[in-house]
Amino acid sequence: MEITEVVTDSLGHVLDSFYICQACRIVDRDDDRIIVGHPCSICGEPSPAGRSYFRSPVFSLIDLMQEFYHAKHDMQVYTVRDHLDSTHNAWLAVVIFFVSLREALLVHFLKELMGALGLPDGVCERLMADNNSHSRRLENLFPSLVGVKWKEAISELSKTSTLDYRKLDRSITEIVRSRNTFLHQGYKVAIKVEMAEGCLRNIWPLLNLYVELHNRFVYPIFQEEKKVITTRCRESPIKPALAERHVGIKTHE
Ligand SMILES: [Zn+2]
Repeated sequence: MEITEVVTDSLGHVLDSFYICQACRIVDRDDDRIIVGHPCSICGEPSPAGRSYFRSPVFSLIDLMQEFYHAKHDMQVYTVRDHLDSTHNAWLAVVIFFVSLREALLVHFLKELMGALGLPDGVCERLMADNNSHSRRLENLFPSLVGVKWKEAISELSKTSTLDYRKLDRSITEIVRSRNTFLHQGYKVAIKVEMAEGCLRNIWPLLNLYVELHNRFVYPIFQEEKKVITTRCRESPIKPALAERHVGIKTHE
């Protein structure tokens, strides 16, 4: 299926195929998880109900990208002029929604990670506020939480994945640069139809990247926590201890 050819069905619905095990927290594409009692292939626990890994804003943004990408076919008004025409507006909307999608996925991942580490809400909010741009969250907060830099993480994941996340990262860098060129200089031709199409094609690898990041960095924390609980620390403040070990952040005095 070509992602650009999905027109009548909701693209967000079509791509909503990642489920999280509510027992061990692994994320995969086993859609039998929607069957009550279906055993998890990792931990064996029966599924209480299927639960999508990504939240609804993610799929709303994907649907908006789809809507504007295909809307251009109904706008036969393209001419070379000094101002944005409807077609350029549609491509621009696809790019802006894609950049928002990328930001929503990073925020979702970081909040999930901080929650797994047991960081108190106040600490999470302070960390997000101190790193209030996408680049700061990627370059400062991400490595402080997981212990490796963003580019190292995606290079490592690319070695075992069928998807090339380094290529994805380069493509996204180019898209963001064009978006910024438009925002700061109003340079309309920075946004081309190929870029809007590229945004659509990048959705699938981007979703997969965040699933792999979850399974690499968040899932193991739940396993470690479960191990600690079952072996020796039933009465201890486990989550703050995990947070201090992983992040070096004091969560209590
Ligand atoms: Zn499981």
